[in-house]
Amino acid sequence: MRYTPKEYADKVESITSLLLEANTQCLHVQEQLEGDDPPEIYDYFLSLERKIIEIVRIQQKLQAEENVFVGAQPGSAIVVHKTGGGDGTAEGTAHYFQTQTTKSAHFVIGQDGTVVQCVHLNDGAGANCCPDDSHNSWWDPLIARFTNLNLCTISIEHCDPSTENSTPLTAKQQAASFKLIAWLVDQYGLDFHQEIRSHHSINATICPGNYPFDALFASLEGRKRSLNPGADPNFLNNYWNILGVGADFSTGLAKTWARDVSNDFWRGSPIAKEGKTVWKGKEVPILHTTAGFYTDEGGVHYWHENM
Ligand SMILES: [Zn+2]
Repeated sequence: MRYTPKEYADKVESITSLLLEANTQCLHVQEQLEGDDPPEIYDYFLSLERKIIEIVRIQQKLQAEENVFVGAQPGSAIVVHKTGGGDGTAEGTAHYFQTQTTKSAHFVIGQDGTVVQCVHLNDGAGANCCPDDSHNSWWDPLIARFTNLNLCTISIEHCDPSTENSTPLTAKQQAASFKLIAWLVDQYGLDFHQEIRSHHSINATICPGNYPFDALFASLEGRKRSLNPGADPNFLNNYWNILGVGADFSTGLAKTWARDVSNDFWRGSPIAKEGKTVWKGKEVPILHTTAGFYTDEGGVHYWHENM
């Protein structure tokens, strides 16, 4: 998805206010912990959130602090959930979390692809409840260490109006889910074959029903395979020439593209040399690829993936 300068400016403004709010909350959390952890940890998690807000369309509707595990810093695994009811919107589920239950999840993905964050990444969410006899033994070391798996996992809810969790994900919902999970896998260095788990693997629940794990793993695998060419800088130069675009590494954006691809972030094939565009009311350098475009905003390079 590409934004008009006006839409983009509005988006930046709304994200800025969310971040200010998030920052206030984090400072508050920091006070509560009485300085047990260095402030850099909070800065780190906040910077993670800034990145994810940039990568996935995301809003924050945070759950009350008394209903989250403040400062748990989860990241051992991702647990996939479906809501088993509700109106299908992420906003509706977030509202439900805020008003009618002590349950929560880090992220909720609506049927329209909207992603709402309900719990900061530095806190644990209340999504999994308690391992029972049916739990998969893969969890045993984490249960031994944490007892409560909410303390070490990142939870993602997918809105499904069906109480059987039998509604297929919509295309937009699936795209947002796969993108969010891929990002988390990268950030946390997860082994996705092992460290992405269903709620059902923790206790006897019909959550997450028909969530398409096979397609998720295939997309994560496919993404991995497509990255191989980026390991070779010569390939990158040749690649532009083969495409008839002509490599131009004299400009910063092409270098950033090459560096990202070398670092296993596939950014599509270049489709034009760097040009100029009006962005947020200013003329800035832009570089288009098949997957999105880069902008250079005052020397800082931003990647914008096609939605
Ligand atoms: Zn669940």
